[in-house]
Amino acid sequence: MVLGAGVAGLVTARVLSEHYDEVVVVERDELPDRPGHRRFVPQSHHAHGLLGSGRRVLVGLFPGLSAELAAGGALTPGSNDPAMGDRSLFLVRGETTIRIPAWWSAGFGASRILLEHAIRARVRALPNVTVLDRTPATGLLTDRSRRLVTGVRTPGEDLGGDLVVDASGRNSPLPEWLERIGYRPPARSVVHSDVRYVSVVTEPDPSFDPEWLAILGGQAESGSSVGGVVLRVEHGLLHISFGSIARGGPVPADLAELRGFADRLTAPVVAEALRRSTPTGPIRAFRVRSNTRRHYDRTREMPEGVLALGDAASAANPIYGQGMSVAALSAAALGRVLAAGDDAGFGRRAARAIAATSGAAWRLALGEDLRYGCRTEGVRPSWTARFGEGYRNRLERAAALDPEVAAAFNDVLNLHRPLSSLGSPRIARRVLRPLRDRDPGPLSATVAAVLGVA
Ligand SMILES: Cc1cc2nc3c(=O)[nH]c(=O)nc-3n(C[C@H](O)[C@H](O)[C@H](O)COP(=O)(O)OP(=O)(O)OC[C@H]3O[C@@H](n4cnc5c(N)ncnc54)[C@H](O)[C@@H]3O)c2cc1C
Repeated sequence: MVLGAGVAGLVTARVLSEHYDEVVVVERDELPDRPGHRRFVPQSHHAHGLLGSGRRVLVGLFPGLSAELAAGGALTPGSNDPAMGDRSLFLVRGETTIRIPAWWSAGFGASRILLEHAIRARVRALPNVTVLDRTPATGLLTDRSRRLVTGVRTPGEDLGGDLVVDASGRNSPLPEWLERIGYRPPARSVVHSDVRYVSVVTEPDPSFDPEWLAILGGQAESGSSVGGVVLRVEHGLLHISFGSIARGGPVPADLAELRGFADRLTAPVVAEALRRSTPTGPIRAFRVRSNTRRHYDRTREMPEGVLALGDAASAANPIYGQGMSVAALSAAALGRVLAAGDDAGFGRRAARAIAATSGAAWRLALGEDLRYGCRTEGVRPSWTARFGEGYRNRLERAAALDPEVAAAFNDVLNLHRPLSSLGSPRIARRVLRPLRDRDPGPLSATVAAVLGVA
């Protein structure tokens, strides 16, 4: 049984379908038959990028997904877009700009609603999976001892199952349900990032056909906590989001004021994308005050038969674009625990595997949030914090000039490799070498062109 048919729930259902005779996905929302926004997933109005690691898992679980997205109008690496191999993502922070070749690390040029639709269609087509929409789960069923969860309550009927996976998102009711049946809720780590988003989907003027696939960042100045993201999505549209963290303050939700806001960013291409395109719908605003990680892996007392995954377990600051990829990686980790077969201590092993996967992303996001002075509760010092601000600043400046440092940095941002890899002697030597010794070569020419300073 899976609670929630978001990205985490759908990918989990796909993984469970290989290990259980029957999988039921319970979703409180009405699920559209087309790519569409949903009442209980308001974040889909805001730019959703997929990381390279997430793409790798999704393509493995759903062979042919790239072609299906391409048929839906998306740009997909190595598929419908011959130029895609040359397209890039640009990560701009303050004065540094890092180029990430799209073929190497990017997800798809697709919106979240198209991606979710494509995955949902594939999951619905699995013979042993049933997706029940308009069905909110309202509590847990247990055996008499209350040591084993045996299913979930819904307003209509009780639904029994051998395993309940909570993938109900960042407002998961599981901690409260556990309390109701006599368990202590899991310990939490909370980061009060106070993230504000303002987003709009636009149609670019025909004369505006940039080389890039995405621009990420574009902060006003080093250490500032406002930024902009432009993603190319299906049918040639641009999904443009502006955000602020903590002290960044409000982001205007009026087009004229938003243009002024965009002009403040370091990368003029963000403002140019907004100016040279026309909104296809309303400007949307969203605010996420805090981000929570629930430590189910550290909870000694937990009934068997229930797990949490995706945002329900670990919802980091969304601005770093990790959530869908973490959901996919966590479901894959659950699949590996199930494939190992041994029933003894399954719940604990699965919770640990899920936490290990999401932990890498959480620590990365936390390290960034701490740079902006976000307040935290129950947070342990992280690896990133131990690297020190000086090393991180230097690493980013080196990555802008040195392809090997850029590759190592991108592998970490895309969750292919752990954060600790950035402290390896080989990378550290390159980071600490004087910057003037680097030959940026053609990289800086492309960067300069994108930034409009060529
Ligand atoms: C503003 C914003 C921007 C983001 N940008 C990115 C990005 O760029 N890249 C990225 O990878 N991620 C991004 N994310 C995160 C991303 O949306 C999620 O991390 C990712 O989709 C995984 O979420 P999920 O499936 O766990 O939860 P959700 O997507 O929230 O889905 C949860 C599902 O559970 C259902 N549900 C809830 N309660 C119940 C119940 N009681 N019974 C039945 N069903 C229930 C909901 O209706 C929903 O369908 C962003 C998030 C926000 C808020």
